[in-house]
Amino acid sequence: MSLESEIIVSHYFLLMMQTLEQTHPTFLKLKSLLAEIEDIYGATSVLHWDQKTYMPSKGSGARGRQLATLNQIAHEKFTDGTIEQLLDDLVSYERDLPYDSDEASLIRLTRRDCDRASKVPTEFEVRFSRLQTDCYEAWAIARAEQNFALVQPMLERMLEMSREYSGFFPEAQHIADPHIEGSDYGMSAVSIRSTFAELRAQLVPLIDAISHQPPVDQSCLQQHYPEAEQFAFCQSVLKQMGYDSERGRQDKTLHPFMTKFSIDDVRITTRVYENDLRQGLFSTIHEMGHAFYELGNAPELEGTPLAGGVSSGVHESQSRLWENLVGRSRPFWHYFYPQLQAHFPSQLGAIPLDTFYRAINKVNRSLIRTDADEITYNLHVMIRFDLELDLLEGTLMVKDLPAAWNDRYSSDLGVTPTSDSNGVLQDVHWYTGQIGGMFQGYTLGNLMSAQFFDAAIAAHPEITDRIAIGDFTVLHDWLQTNIYRHGRKYTAAETLDRVTGKSLSTQPLMNYIRCKYGELYGI
Ligand code: ZN
Repeated sequence: MSLESEIIVSHYFLLMMQTLEQTHPTFLKLKSLLAEIEDIYGATSVLHWDQKTYMPSKGSGARGRQLATLNQIAHEKFTDGTIEQLLDDLVSYERDLPYDSDEASLIRLTRRDCDRASKVPTEFEVRFSRLQTDCYEAWAIARAEQNFALVQPMLERMLEMSREYSGFFPEAQHIADPHIEGSDYGMSAVSIRSTFAELRAQLVPLIDAISHQPPVDQSCLQQHYPEAEQFAFCQSVLKQMGYDSERGRQDKTLHPFMTKFSIDDVRITTRVYENDLRQGLFSTIHEMGHAFYELGNAPELEGTPLAGGVSSGVHESQSRLWENLVGRSRPFWHYFYPQLQAHFPSQLGAIPLDTFYRAINKVNRSLIRTDADEITYNLHVMIRFDLELDLLEGTLMVKDLPAAWNDRYSSDLGVTPTSDSNGVLQDVHWYTGQIGGMFQGYTLGNLMSAQFFDAAIAAHPEITDRIAIGDFTVLHDWLQTNIYRHGRKYTAAETLDRVTGKSLSTQPLMNYIRCKYGELYGI
């Protein structure tokens, strides 16, 4: 062994000894208990994924029981007092650690999660988990039959239980706050209402101005695109953008989602419409953005609550960044459009890139949130957020929800749903999660996506040129370093501050929208 390698070996030995000395046995015990709980949640994710992709419909009864049992075990383990005691024993250990060390962050985050979870009785968790499964099944039937009445009694139970959940947090200022805190920690009904009002005041006149411009022809997207070929193209896009098929896969579902079983198994789903190219393509890029985030967590966070994303808003910022700021940009299609044309020569062979680019960015008051353009999308979110608050506050009854939904679409977007399926039944969230805290993350994510993208471009102005030649690594690496690898270590506010030096703002998104759509629509 050379002298140099001896020095290296002894250096590592020293480092290892220091780490062992520093690692408190109580901390190791906490980590191992948390890893068991993470394993149980990993198993519930597999069951959920199967339920929403391949499970035959009659499997739902048993699946509901299985999920409820696993949730019960996990919740009991988390809240039976053992973890609380370990956290108490670690107070002085935590005090001596740097705030952003993995150890201090794990203790801090576990305490926050544990405080919240301990307020909710296990018996409630089990009942809620069963209801979520039953309500999802009823929603799938109601949606296929275009009949809200088929799921109404279940949704009434869902509202009751969502209100019951809020009751476990008597200190909350607003009945929706416990739900909002659960998905977007640090936010509240009041703060979101104010951010949304500010954004809305800027968006509405812009949408109005665009609506007075000549309409964009979108017919090139609405030809017949066979499902198998769309799916194949999406697979090719995923591969070229860097989604690793050895660490994930894509399947079909009713409502696209991403799910993680472990740091090396992060899956996405999509749905494909044969008469509309946008759905499969953009939902694929969207879910891939979510998957990049989870796949990019530092490996040492695996098996701890630190693995994952900061909040629903920050998670959406990653999916929306890849879907919109990258996937709906000119440089992106400069690279991918010739490939798309080669895939669909009879549909797109004679369509110029500029026509296609305008079509995928058409601003249009429409019925379906997931099909909406980048601008009106936020109005779809605001409608849902307001309706959630009305339901929770008790000023809106579930039986009146379809009519209230349709009224808001008429007044805010100037379109009226023709059935419950393209109205109140279009999103799965209330029927499989809860009522409250389910939608604000999308618009918060849009705001943050522009803030993060600006910071990335400031650090690496060559990013757009690289995208134009199909190289996504500079952007991906920047996101990996600044956001992905930290998992849940920082709050959303801390993340924004660390990465952009600013707090949440509507301005970067509005600047982006004004610049892009000003050019597109000549306004
Ligand atoms: Zn998403």
